[in-house]
Amino acid sequence: MIKISLVWLLLSIVLLGSSPAHAAEPEGLIDISRSAPEIQLDMRYATPENFLRRAVYPLAVCLLRPAVAERLVRVQRRVAVQGYTLRLWDCYRPLSVQKQMWAIVHDERYVADPAKGSRHNRGAAVDLTLSDAQGVALEMPTSFDDFSARAGRDAEAGWSETARRNYAVLDRAMRSEGFLPLPSEWWHYDATGWEIYPVLDVPLAPR
Ligand SMILES: [Zn+2]
Repeated sequence: MIKISLVWLLLSIVLLGSSPAHAAEPEGLIDISRSAPEIQLDMRYATPENFLRRAVYPLAVCLLRPAVAERLVRVQRRVAVQGYTLRLWDCYRPLSVQKQMWAIVHDERYVADPAKGSRHNRGAAVDLTLSDAQGVALEMPTSFDDFSARAGRDAEAGWSETARRNYAVLDRAMRSEGFLPLPSEWWHYDATGWEIYPVLDVPLAPR
């Protein structure tokens, strides 16, 4: 009897250990437009307006981990009271697209090695800028995917006064909600805690 109980106990431990509810496995991805339709979508990889010069996303959708999306909605509230709106350029990116990018730009300052995976592949990074109350994109240090030193946050001294001011609004709001800036790209932020999210290759579709 003791032997059976012991076996049962060990089996329970093994089963509990393999249960998704007990792993650091987070829930899937959500569509930001559902929680904050006021956020502007300008998903560049769904258009040829990106460094690949062709659309690599089948549709313009911003998917993020729910906790990351919640933070971004709070950032939107912060900038909205100042008369601005977030304008998103990229959110979750399937790993297969990351591989296409890496084949073109083999430089880890700008594109993450797909062998390691990008934080975009984890649904925990966002590329974004700001628009004014009329929905017009604000002047910023550079355009999106400007893979030059000018896009680096340490190049601030060379930016126009207006770009510096607009960038400061975005940067303050993002940091206030726990987003970490990437030094080489002023438009890229990782969500703190991104490590817990696995790299994904699920296709882009509204959720
Ligand atoms: Zn990015």
